[in-house]
Amino acid sequence: MRPGECAARSARLILDGMPRSSVLVLVLVLAVLLGARALAAVEPFPPPPPPRGPVVILTRHALDGRGGELNDARIGVADGRIASMNASPGADVIDLRRYTVLPGWIDVHVHLASHFDKNGRIATESEPAPEAAMGIAQAAWDSLMGGFTTVQSVGDDSERPLRDAIRDHGFPGPRVLTSLSWIQGDASIPDDKLREMVRERKANGADLIKIFASTSQRVGAKPTFTEAQLQVLCDEARALGLRSMVHAYRSQVAAAARAGCNEIEHMTYATAEEIGVAAKAGAYLSPQVGLVVQNYLENKDRYIGVGNYTEQGMATMEKDLPEDFRVCTIAAKIPGAKLVFSTDATAGAHGHNAEEFLGRVAHCGITPMQALVSANRVAAEAIGLGDRIGTLAKGYAADIIALDGNPLEDLSAVRRVVFVMRGGVVYKWPGAGRP
Ligand SMILES: [Zn+2]
Repeated sequence: MRPGECAARSARLILDGMPRSSVLVLVLVLAVLLGARALAAVEPFPPPPPPRGPVVILTRHALDGRGGELNDARIGVADGRIASMNASPGADVIDLRRYTVLPGWIDVHVHLASHFDKNGRIATESEPAPEAAMGIAQAAWDSLMGGFTTVQSVGDDSERPLRDAIRDHGFPGPRVLTSLSWIQGDASIPDDKLREMVRERKANGADLIKIFASTSQRVGAKPTFTEAQLQVLCDEARALGLRSMVHAYRSQVAAAARAGCNEIEHMTYATAEEIGVAAKAGAYLSPQVGLVVQNYLENKDRYIGVGNYTEQGMATMEKDLPEDFRVCTIAAKIPGAKLVFSTDATAGAHGHNAEEFLGRVAHCGITPMQALVSANRVAAEAIGLGDRIGTLAKGYAADIIALDGNPLEDLSAVRRVVFVMRGGVVYKWPGAGRP
């Protein structure tokens, strides 16, 4: 007997002698029940288990991701985690003693969906869906190959299937957290509607909420939401267990921090006092100085003509780059400020995220070690995973990278990522040649 046949047969027995309307209702209820049964009969595939191991990684010089240096650590990896920092050599040995070993980096602000189309131009919504899907997958792969084992992608609904494929089906890429589509600032939106927008994203699987509190720098960097609206949004996010990230310029930096939002992006044109308010409120601060604008300028012809990518907008970004350096330097000097690694990488920049390390050291007055820790411990804490990633220590995820060179002496080593392991899976290895 096939599933459902038995229920159908018993139903036929009950039907005799019932009024027609009741029969109709019963048939409908039965149809719903059988339908639900058919759906429930199939479960999603379980995620593939991490490699069991054990694998032992031999190191000479390693950074622990929290500001410490380790000598001659033997990192034991089993079941996707770091099982020991002093392992005895096991069956499989990966010898990274020629390199500097550190936890995989974390970029808390990228746009994986942003890519160039087959003609080399910035892709728009008119791009065929299969090509868009390949574009976002390529951006994820490039980020991973650049040493970024976790990225927070903030701005597109297509980030969810990508996140899920990587997390649940072994698709190659970094661990992805997503805001799905961002909430565009508009002072006329009533509070109820704002709360609904947050709830909708939570229901659709968002890991955080991304809010635009200012227009783009290319069109004036003007305020869009009121402080009260920001409070409604960030309160609702918190109530649902979501973090909030705010794109903010000028006085919106302090407004977003006072509203209790967790992370403030860009901060361009803010005063020292406004940045101080944000730091004191405990918000994570992420100015960008080394990649996003430089990439726009390098690829100007690929962007111009779409949306607010205009000659004038590009000129504004170029002219005001020193503004970005200024706000970054101010933030870096505030004791206790939580300066987190974030690039805002768009098309052309994926895989080059590490340029931001060089920019931060060159333009914000911080040390290479501070810059590196901002993409390990600080970034892990900023995305709520401080106890699971961003540190080389027993119990943490086996997200491990190696650089050809010592970045504390020659920071350009961040451009030479020769080994990438995420969750115990090796994606790039010097012994395997360049992918
Ligand atoms: Zn962005």
